[in-house]
Amino acid sequence: MRILLVEDERRLSNVIKKGLEEDGYAVDTAFDGEEGQFMAESESYDLIILDCLLPKFDGITLCKNIRKKGHKTPILMLTAKSAIEDKVLGLDSGADDYMTKPFSFLELRSRVRALIRRTSRDSTTTLTVADLVVDPLKHTVERGGKNIAFTPKEFSILEFLLHHKDEVVTRTMVTEHVWDYNFEGMSNVVDVFLANLRKKIDKNTSKKLIHTVHGVGYKISEVA
Ligand code: CA
Repeated sequence: MRILLVEDERRLSNVIKKGLEEDGYAVDTAFDGEEGQFMAESESYDLIILDCLLPKFDGITLCKNIRKKGHKTPILMLTAKSAIEDKVLGLDSGADDYMTKPFSFLELRSRVRALIRRTSRDSTTTLTVADLVVDPLKHTVERGGKNIAFTPKEFSILEFLLHHKDEVVTRTMVTEHVWDYNFEGMSNVVDVFLANLRKKIDKNTSKKLIHTVHGVGYKISEVA
């Protein structure tokens, strides 16, 4: 899951980015309206977090511009304290939710999850394939009733595969959704993570769930 954060207060931006990354999201940051719009249009995001007051042009204008171009990405607006008009404007402009500053990270995290869940194709709480059960809210993974420990990044990749159950997912799709804009890693990093995922999920079972589609990518499915 990939998030764009447009917030000009560097300290707040860093705190939000760090917290969301610990939850396994890839987070790109922009610091003014213009930069935010450029990134929103050039990349594909699962959620956009927008501050209302930004240099160059404000978050409400940015939100309207994004909607005008037909992007349906959920947008969470951050507004100044008790600025009731900001909230109304924010929702009128096509934002899906808003939060008033100051807010706690815990509150932000639950709003982020709710928005991503609301718009993801699978509206049920848990994601499953065969006897594999993943709970995005509790961050748990079970196979055959047995709990398996996952790092945030591994979890994020697994969640992405499950959102595309029975479909082929390319390495580029995984990279774009799980790592941020500044990511420059080994070219085989996705393969390394997938190998770990396999070890955790498919080792010692006769029914393999993660399949390699040669020359293309990966697929999570009950059938190869
Ligand atoms: Ca601001």
